[in-house]
Amino acid sequence: MILTNCEGRVGVNKAREVLINNGSSLDAIEQGIRLIEADTTIDSVGRGGSPNLLGEMECDAAIMDGSNLLAGSIGALKDYLHAISVARAVMEKLPHVMLVGEGAHQFAQEINAEKADMLSDEARIKHEKWIRENVSTDDMKNWPNVSLAKYAWLSGKDYASGGTVVFLAIDAKENIVAGTSTSGWARSYPGRLGDSPIIGAGLYADNRYGACACTHNGEMTIRTSTARSVILYMKKGASVKEACNEAMRDLLYLHEGQIGAVVIHAIDKNGNACVVSSHDLKEKSSYYLWKDEMKSIEHKQAEVIKL
Ligand code: ASP
Repeated sequence: MILTNCEGRVGVNKAREVLINNGSSLDAIEQGIRLIEADTTIDSVGRGGSPNLLGEMECDAAIMDGSNLLAGSIGALKDYLHAISVARAVMEKLPHVMLVGEGAHQFAQEINAEKADMLSDEARIKHEKWIRENVSTDDMKNWPNVSLAKYAWLSGKDYASGGTVVFLAIDAKENIVAGTSTSGWARSYPGRLGDSPIIGAGLYADNRYGACACTHNGEMTIRTSTARSVILYMKKGASVKEACNEAMRDLLYLHEGQIGAVVIHAIDKNGNACVVSSHDLKEKSSYYLWKDEMKSIEHKQAEVIKL
């Protein structure tokens, strides 16, 4: 079984092929996400994704193995094409769960991860346009040595340009895995980490119950530990749908700070799926679902539960 969101479109066939050929859910997810990271037409993940306020690409990714609760995560990774593979290597080669910044860079180098110029021309042009249109004349004189905080808030207002690829999969051995990859919140404060690399917020997997991954306002799902909450609600007896609804209700309690859309994707260990969105995001809250018994991959729309 595979569930991925709209960003996963170009990788879902590959992930399915891995599972059909008896591959593991870890391989299916990694290989699916690698295609999205390399695709410059997807403006929220990997090469061609959205840079931070300084015009730098900082990528986050994570993977969690539900069979043993091992997890690997990488934050603010620059200059490497496949953050998901670096995250998987953190899980498999280090005693750690998460690396960020310079250490992430050093580790990527150590495992010979593929280097790349992550800022596409389109993303650079879009970024420069936003800077021209939003930075005050005074600040422009000293840019970027100015107070960036107000621009982080400003970029949060038009936070439609966010996005993450999320994959949830169950393989023939019934191992459940969750994976994420993103260039994060477009024009965020440099060094900002969203929920995508945070185990328990942006993703969680546990073979005993299921898996969950979130997209959009990561600040919110970090504050309510959304992905882990969904699994915990299932552990306490909720169906996957009830668990997603309850986690959405937790988000409703948030009124201050960055508030906006959240989409929750979840599956249970029996292959039941649920995707709920706090807003009608049209294509951005659509998802792809494939199960063994299905002839083809289905493209579906999240159920909207208003925040
Ligand atoms: N959740 C991601 C983050 O906070 C971005 C997104 O999915 O829009 O970085």
